[in-house]
Amino acid sequence: MNTNNSKIIYEKAKKAIPGGVNSPVRAFQSVDKEYPIFIKSGNESRLYDEDGNEYVDMIGSWGPMILGHNYPQVLEIVKKELENGTSFGLPTKKEVELAELVKSCFPSIEKLRLTTSGTEAAMASVRLARAFTGKNKIVKFEGCYHGHSDSLLVKAGSGFLTFAHQDSNGITEGVVKDTITLPFGDFEKLKETLESEKDIACVIIEPIPANMGLIETKKEYLEKIREITKKEKVVLIFDEVISGFRISLGGAQEVFGITPDLTVLGKIIGGGYPVGGFGGKKEIMDLISPVGNVYHAGTLSGNPISVAAGIETISILKKNTEIYENINTKTENLVNQINELIKKYSIPASVNHFGSLFTIFFSKEKVDTLEKAISSNAEFYSIYFDTMLKNGIIVPPSKYEAHFVSYVHNDKDMEKFLTGVEKTFEKIS
Ligand code: PLP
Repeated sequence: MNTNNSKIIYEKAKKAIPGGVNSPVRAFQSVDKEYPIFIKSGNESRLYDEDGNEYVDMIGSWGPMILGHNYPQVLEIVKKELENGTSFGLPTKKEVELAELVKSCFPSIEKLRLTTSGTEAAMASVRLARAFTGKNKIVKFEGCYHGHSDSLLVKAGSGFLTFAHQDSNGITEGVVKDTITLPFGDFEKLKETLESEKDIACVIIEPIPANMGLIETKKEYLEKIREITKKEKVVLIFDEVISGFRISLGGAQEVFGITPDLTVLGKIIGGGYPVGGFGGKKEIMDLISPVGNVYHAGTLSGNPISVAAGIETISILKKNTEIYENINTKTENLVNQINELIKKYSIPASVNHFGSLFTIFFSKEKVDTLEKAISSNAEFYSIYFDTMLKNGIIVPPSKYEAHFVSYVHNDKDMEKFLTGVEKTFEKIS
């Protein structure tokens, strides 16, 4: 596979951009190459690099591309919207339409604010929870990722975990002190913490954690969290940036039947364009400026192009709920076939999956904690990434991320994927 153009671009990139990339996981490269692949275009389930190589895309821009790249109806709306102008810094009717659409899918959201990223939405939710409760500290879970605002980076997952940041450089001791991190899944520790520490404003959680690899969540665990946060008057924030509109139209909260106080959204609600959003109870949301005193703003918040793409994407999902059945069944079939290959080649591996998300851990034991994710075999994972890339399949470069299956993945894609998995297993068995 000739990837020379990527090599040339990377040489320039390193001189102009730290690490040559604008988000750390993009820097991953194959074992024998010293540069990442630079993508030129995408269409449906495929990506094309700067040398014209074609890849099956199993990451879907880390979640937004549930309908694949260039889904015709979304593309058409965006093209039309571009002609109306791209940013006004003034309100538009479409923002109201998107807010109403999101509300119709998430009954816990009475009011919604849009941002430009999931990071901003999570950051603003935490600030809002502090203002609402008059308390200072927050609880988050080790290995969960909520974007890169200071407090939420403490013991965070995703790229932060991948690149083994020992401490949060640039984050003040005060912020770290106000951020209590607890192991995901250990309810007793949370209970003890909330009962003994009375200065906690919120508990923020990925109800389906997908940033330490995909980890299973138990409904009872989330139910107990809901109960104790209510009792202790602590705001419960569900970060559904990944799970929102992916696991089902109403996200993890719909699947588990749990109502958080605030919800953080992103990715799919922008249909592949920059977006984020946070919403919840009216009494909390109305503390935001200009109604209340909690400041939140953004030059590109509710950008018309992102909003138009979001409306179209969510409308398609809402009108065609069989899309969820399609992506979930496809994923389940794929996971079953991976499991058969694991058996056939006696590979010390296991697959976690939920809806259209899955992670292959090179660990014999089922991975249900951050510790087990950390101790799963990283060398085998890197052989997997490398083999897949060389066989024309882009999978997460790190074991701490999930694969994302889209509506437009077809039988050919799945066959190609499984051939790559078999080649990987042949190498490591
Ligand atoms: N929350 C979760 C669960 C995420 O997975 C991410 C990003 O991957 C974020 C928040 C941050 O979103 P963004 O990258 O749009 O800032």
